Amino acid sequence: MRLKTFRMGGIHPDDNKISASAAVEVLPLPAVAYISMAQHLGAPATPIVQKGDKVLVGQVIAEPSGFVSAPVHSPYSGTVKAVEPRADFAGNMVTHVVIDVEGDEWLPQIDRTPEIKTEITASREEILEKIKNAGIVGLGGAAFPTHIKLSPPKDKTAECLIINGTECEPYLTSDDRIMQEEPVQIVTGARIMMKALGVPKCYIGIEENKPAAIESMKKAAADYSGIEVVVLKKKYPQGGEKQLIDAIIHRRVPSMGLPIDTGAVVQNVGTALAVYEAVQKNKPLIDNIFTVTGKCVPQQKNFDVRVGTTFRQIIEAAGGIPENAAKFVSGGPMMGKAIVNLDASTVKASAALLVLTEEETLRKKESNCIRCGKCADACPMGLQPFLLSRLARAGGRQEELEQEKVFDCIECGCCLYTCPANIPLLDVIRPAKAEVIKIMRSRPKK
Ligand code: SF4
Ligand code: SF4
Repeated sequence: MRLKTFRMGGIHPDDNKISASAAVEVLPLPAVAYISMAQHLGAPATPIVQKGDKVLVGQVIAEPSGFVSAPVHSPYSGTVKAVEPRADFAGNMVTHVVIDVEGDEWLPQIDRTPEIKTEITASREEILEKIKNAGIVGLGGAAFPTHIKLSPPKDKTAECLIINGTECEPYLTSDDRIMQEEPVQIVTGARIMMKALGVPKCYIGIEENKPAAIESMKKAAADYSGIEVVVLKKKYPQGGEKQLIDAIIHRRVPSMGLPIDTGAVVQNVGTALAVYEAVQKNKPLIDNIFTVTGKCVPQQKNFDVRVGTTFRQIIEAAGGIPENAAKFVSGGPMMGKAIVNLDASTVKASAALLVLTEEETLRKKESNCIRCGKCADACPMGLQPFLLSRLARAGGRQEELEQEKVFDCIECGCCLYTCPANIPLLDVIRPAKAEVIKIMRSRPKK
């Protein structure tokens, strides 16, 4: 049988899932933890604790400060040491709540028993309230507050839920592990979100290179006729919302449109697990499953990491910093971001620490465009990367860049990956896109 996939563009990089067989281990608690207030897309949260306060695991330490915002809960028990600006992984100064960790005392209302609760008793309103209060954000990358995504505007109708279990980024394996280790919880989380959205259908998309996850998720979903596991052909960037919707329900998100325009709401498998824990176990989002990987890393691991642990502590637990480490990446090699500060801490949506050697990061010398068109063939958004990069490099061509829909670029890196002339297409296109979006947003609304 031919497997489904998205129709336009895409590439097939080596998947390098070298940590796939490592079962999830709980990372020991740090002595001091650093909780960033910028945990999600939108406005950072506002701290409500101060130096000297005692906190318990699960206690709210920061409140949302806008519509697109979410509360932050303490992943630790202990004493607040400071509320101060600290550098995040990219070197940007962000307010953090610093906690001296003392023991591991949880709020009593959080259910820590191993019982798996599959019966959903909460009403739609209660579900949304619990998800909002638990600070759940999308764990597929964008960290958009989940309760907002589960409340489509009145003029849009949700028809189905799509659970993203593709994990198409090379190296990453945390989603694969949770699908193998906690499939019933994920399926229950999906059922909770179906109830919140009022949709009868849920698709769980998983790429063909995860046979154990496919099997366990099919088994967990077998009793629910509205839930279908869809095995997808391995192709990057299948995990992009627009690509996944196209692959599974064959509808295209319009240019400048949103997934809900197709009737679909997409959520990641990690988010489904967090929703289960929030609604069925009263547990806020304080930890996530995190991959430490790279061919030079002594022990590739999948850890259950509490938010606020430093990247340095995580790599130490995986055998230490390799001598030949040249680059640290938060996320995967295609869409991850370079880490300039290993003493920065993880946030809710942190998924991986990838360590690369100099040899692996070396960029080949750029030459002239040979007009082969490979970048356009690979672009999953139907753009012409060679043209976008030429306009961007020329400078002052924002109008043409807008006409060429630079704003539709999902920054997947497929163009850069395929270019035989080694032109850093995405590096050139990304700032041009930001500039065009800024201009578009500054225009008065009609
Ligand atoms: S980075 Fe942008 S332009 Fe390049 S292939 Fe991806 S979507 Fe297309
Ligand atoms: S892939 Fe590179 S060389 Fe080929 S058309 Fe695109 S920019 Fe030019």
